[in-house]
This record gives sequence, C-alpha cells and structure tokens, in this order.
Amino acid sequence: MGRSVNYLSGATHVSYMDTSEYGMRSKASCEVCDEYYMEEEANECCGKTLSYRIEYDEFSGRYDFDYLIEDFQSKMMDRFKSLEICEEHDGRETSIVLENSLVELGISEYCGLTSFSVRPKDSLYEYTPDLTGLAKRNAEHIGKWMSENIGDIQKIGSFSNGEGVYERKTK
Ligand SMILES: [Zn+2]
Repeated sequence: MGRSVNYLSGATHVSYMDTSEYGMRSKASCEVCDEYYMEEEANECCGKTLSYRIEYDEFSGRYDFDYLIEDFQSKMMDRFKSLEICEEHDGRETSIVLENSLVELGISEYCGLTSFSVRPKDSLYEYTPDLTGLAKRNAEHIGKWMSENIGDIQKIGSFSNGEGVYERKTK
C-alpha cells in the first residue's frame, strides 16, 4: 500500500486504520421500478429476481465514519478523563475531535486510510514556555496509549515522492 493521508502538523503520535471497506454494502436495484435494496432485504421485485453486488453506498459510508469517530472519542475519553469532544478543523484535511487544555487529537481520511493523531497545543502557550513542556509530556502520554490501542495499520516508511508506505500491524 502506498498512500498518503493527512494528520495534525506537529503530531507526536499517529495511528492508522484501514477503512477501505467503509460504506461498502450489498446492494441491488430493480430495473423496472428503480427501487434500491440493501443487504439482501428482498429476493425479488416486480416479479424479477434481484442480483446483489457489493458497492459503495454514500449514506452508509458517512454512517460508518461517524461511528468510527464516536468509537475513537469514547475509547480515548474512557482512558483519559481530561479529554472532551470538540469539533474543529486544523485548516487542512484533519478534523480535531478531542481536546483537553494541553493537547488536541485529530482524524483524517484519504482513499480508505484513516489517521488518528495527537499534538501538544503549542500555539496556546507561546508566551508560557513552562506549559509547552507539560503539553508535550501529556501528548507523549496520550499518544503512547493511542499508538498501542487504536488502529490496525502502521507506517513503515515513505517513498521519495512523499507517499507513505504502510503495512498491517501484527497482533
Ligand atoms: Zn421493482
């Protein structure tokens, strides 16, 4: 796999997950009445047998991804009580979905690969350097647990064009 997915700039830790199956559903459509069927919900329509095939469904894709975000948020908040849900953007392609006073965590998706990243909120502490060290330690602490518990893919290197090289984690 050689693909690139965004993550928070300045991240101390990044985890990756294969989400290429997200939104893929067994679907069939009736040529006569244009009705759609999902997940083998009916065998025939208008007297004709329906043939199902696996294809991308946009609504299901959003549903799967929303579920992934909620699952990530609840796992991280269960482990780290200081984290709270937030809805922000880093100005690129990463959504910031969790934060505390020191760090923020983001999610980004590209071509079936999703990244989870954590970074210290250094911009907030430009004039209070003592907090920068604290924020970095908090990011290390949270990021270490995230690396071990979130994601099923790891980055093993990069091509010269900047594209990442990934492989499935062995469990
Ligand atoms: Zn029909």
